[in-house]
Amino acid sequence: MNDFTQKFISIFSANFLGRFADEKTALCFQALTERMLEVNEHMNLTAITDTDGIILKHYADSLTASEYIPDGASVIDIGCGAGFPSLPLAIARPDLHITALDSTAKRINYISETAQLLGLGNITAVSGRAEELAKNLSYREKYDFACARAVARLNVLCELCLPYVKVGGHFLAMKANADEELAEAGNAISLPGGKLERAERIGLISSGGEANPRTLILIKKISPTPKNYPRNNSQISKKPL
Ligand code: SAM
Repeated sequence: MNDFTQKFISIFSANFLGRFADEKTALCFQALTERMLEVNEHMNLTAITDTDGIILKHYADSLTASEYIPDGASVIDIGCGAGFPSLPLAIARPDLHITALDSTAKRINYISETAQLLGLGNITAVSGRAEELAKNLSYREKYDFACARAVARLNVLCELCLPYVKVGGHFLAMKANADEELAEAGNAISLPGGKLERAERIGLISSGGEANPRTLILIKKISPTPKNYPRNNSQISKKPL
């Protein structure tokens, strides 16, 4: 077992992700790490460049979403950046059909090429602004599950993400400490058709034993999003719901 695999298995096991911690999966994550760090030399993909940090803060953190996502679900990752959580989900959950969306075309090209390199057939990368693509009927209310990590405050995110979710599906916002954001997001959750199902606080445990606090906010889509949402970018940012 190589050094990467040992670290991967140890960090995943410490974070209740042992079911993903086999050697074959570790090798795929190792290939992703090598590729991301190589491209990171000339494209801004990640500020985290040490192996332990990448495994914990990108891979394990991304896979905390997995337990909320039903088998075989269609998933859209809004503001995926360098592919988080979408690329780890595509590797660890071959049953999912994932769309990775970001407004930055060069990051989307990186994800498409990386998926091809890793042989991932279950992820499609799309370049565009979330508030614009949500008006396109090929995307609107077409997904069982939407997720977003580190993209915007919850009152902005709900308007960007809930329009993509089918009634009965869910949106998961992956955050650090979100008490204040949750307190101000009542209208932002309900107006686009959502209902707060739960907010779960977890601590991601590093190899040194420290806990990194995370909050997973699960919102159920209970009614169709009215046609006027999402509004355009300047309306959303000037006057969040
Ligand atoms: N989700 C990734 C992660 O956790 O590492 C990336 C986070 S990065 C801080 C935020 C990303 O959201 C950027 O890549 C940005 O281009 C994208 N983004 C922000 N607003 C967006 C919008 N309205 N539509 C699409 N992408 C957006």
